[in-house]
Amino acid sequence: MLMRTGDPEMAREINRSLILSYLRNVDKTHRAEIAKKLHLTKATVTTIINQLIQENLVKVLGEGEAQKIGGRKPVLITLDNLKNLIIGIDIGKTNTVVAIGDLNGKLVKLSRKATVKDPTVNNVIKNISDILKNMIEETKTDRERIVGVGVSAAGIVNGKKGVVELSPDFNWKNVPLKNLLASELNYPAVIDNCTRVMMLGEKWYGNAKKVSNAFFVNIGYGIGSAIIIDGKIYYNHSEFGHLYVTGKKVKCYCKKYGCLEVVASGNAIEKIANRILNKTGKGWITAENVVMMARDGNNTANKIFMDAGKYIGRSISSVANFLNPEKIIIGGGVSLAGELLLNPIIEEFQKQTMEIIKGNTSVELSKLGMDAGVLGAMALGLNHFVFQPEKNKV
Ligand SMILES: [Zn+2]
Repeated sequence: MLMRTGDPEMAREINRSLILSYLRNVDKTHRAEIAKKLHLTKATVTTIINQLIQENLVKVLGEGEAQKIGGRKPVLITLDNLKNLIIGIDIGKTNTVVAIGDLNGKLVKLSRKATVKDPTVNNVIKNISDILKNMIEETKTDRERIVGVGVSAAGIVNGKKGVVELSPDFNWKNVPLKNLLASELNYPAVIDNCTRVMMLGEKWYGNAKKVSNAFFVNIGYGIGSAIIIDGKIYYNHSEFGHLYVTGKKVKCYCKKYGCLEVVASGNAIEKIANRILNKTGKGWITAENVVMMARDGNNTANKIFMDAGKYIGRSISSVANFLNPEKIIIGGGVSLAGELLLNPIIEEFQKQTMEIIKGNTSVELSKLGMDAGVLGAMALGLNHFVFQPEKNKV
């Protein structure tokens, strides 16, 4: 889309976003510095800052040192972090995580609870509402300060419409989750697919900070992916888990054979482990159990991760050859296996990736672990309601 530069209202909104984003990345600053850094006139900056002060988004700290002898002392300003709070919600198959963060995205409180056993839309929403009410009471949070709610949901999510079009985890179809949550919680809401939200978490808090091009792989029960290109999340749905990687005749739920997901996801790891390690057939070996067995020196358990890692390494090598991102980040529950998974990924990646690409694409484990989703949900909410309101996306 072309930028409508002739529209003064639009220009003001864009400048406001630029100033807020700039403030987010510095401890304190003053009007002249903002004008200089963002190439705006002092008058424009002053008008916008005065409005942000009125809206309680910015506060005055006091006077700083004069820039030159005899010059006027600048008025130092900063984001008014605690006057504005955001709620992040990560609705996972196993856990529901709710967090309160400040305007700068700093975590104030996090609560992780089991997702309801019978995940109907009503039950899931009621559970979230209960968790949030308790948190607000415990932390004595002023409800008026909450600017909105960012939500991470699994499956095919249309963030613009606020609809979960398909959730295989919960067996949901076309659920208008954004509106349902907004009316239950009494705050405006924004939702998106969990892997894109985790990528945003990596961008704000994790390995993708200061990175313009990155690829994120979410290895949980399934395998999802998200991409940042030129600093922006690529919005189209990407299905890295369904790349063709093996001639093995294992059928995927997508009705095709040989997908990465059937040989390397948490689900695949559990199925393989129960087939070859569960001699008695009693109980169920979880992916976590396989990690512990491998760490205890069980060669078969170790081989399961070697194989999964090999297939993931092969697939990300295709992505690297194709996109040459600065970073490929491996996250999600299965990434908690750490080097058990990372070592074979890197070994295969080194083998299969072009020399010229290898040098500038690094492959890393996420440092955010299971918090990537909820942190990303806070970032999603802050981006949407404060820093880059949807109307500014040009
Ligand atoms: Zn598939």
